Amino acid sequence: MDDDMPANLLQIVESTTLHADEITARTQQIHADMLSMSEYIDASNFTCIHRDDLKILFTFYDSRFFEGQIKESLGTVSLHFSLSKRMTKTGGKTVHCLDKASGTQWYEIGVSTTLLFQCFTGDDHRPIRNSGIVCHDRLDALQRVMEHELVHLIEMLLWDKSSCAKPRFHSITLRFFGHTENKHQLITPKEKAIVKYGIKPGVKVRFRFDGVQHKGFVNRINKRATVLVEDRKGVRYSNGKYYVKFYVPVQKLEVLE
Ligand SMILES: [Zn+2]
Repeated sequence: MDDDMPANLLQIVESTTLHADEITARTQQIHADMLSMSEYIDASNFTCIHRDDLKILFTFYDSRFFEGQIKESLGTVSLHFSLSKRMTKTGGKTVHCLDKASGTQWYEIGVSTTLLFQCFTGDDHRPIRNSGIVCHDRLDALQRVMEHELVHLIEMLLWDKSSCAKPRFHSITLRFFGHTENKHQLITPKEKAIVKYGIKPGVKVRFRFDGVQHKGFVNRINKRATVLVEDRKGVRYSNGKYYVKFYVPVQKLEVLE
């Protein structure tokens, strides 16, 4: 092979093991560069982010850890980025999409703003760990999410399928980023609801909605709690009773028991 040829993605992924100090140096440099390059991220615990920021972050990681070979491997296939308020259980998601009608394919990396923005608010009830690493601020946590999602993308590009429950994934995240765990450990709305407000499924609650007080019980918790209030005008549930469903922010609920 010509000496000027960049090593291909597979070679890089299979042959690289970075020293912990090297990982720290590179990720801290990316942290600093994000703060100076982004139009929106203006602090480590930023309160505003644009999907272009994910693209910038991706480019930094691709060039500093993978010699730009992720972009190279994508070729003409697009990579989209999105921010989601609806993802309430995981920090990120990577998907390979195919439009059957046109044959167009693309990849998309999505990041949950709900999880990021409810961590590092000054009242976290525990340290925020992601991928086995304690994160110091919101940008740090975003970097861990990007690192995890990048490895999903790499696996999809090289082997079609990707799973963060499998040894190959664990090996790549450990060798490149020092990840010792491969689960997302940001605080989810559900955990926050339980720990901070004592709200969990089954709990009886009282709340006001449009000036009227209601009593019901919590059915589930996503971004807000779903509360079922017994009402003959409602929908029949499997227990034979009729309920109307309300979506209420957990901090607006008063626990009755
Ligand atoms: Zn994953």
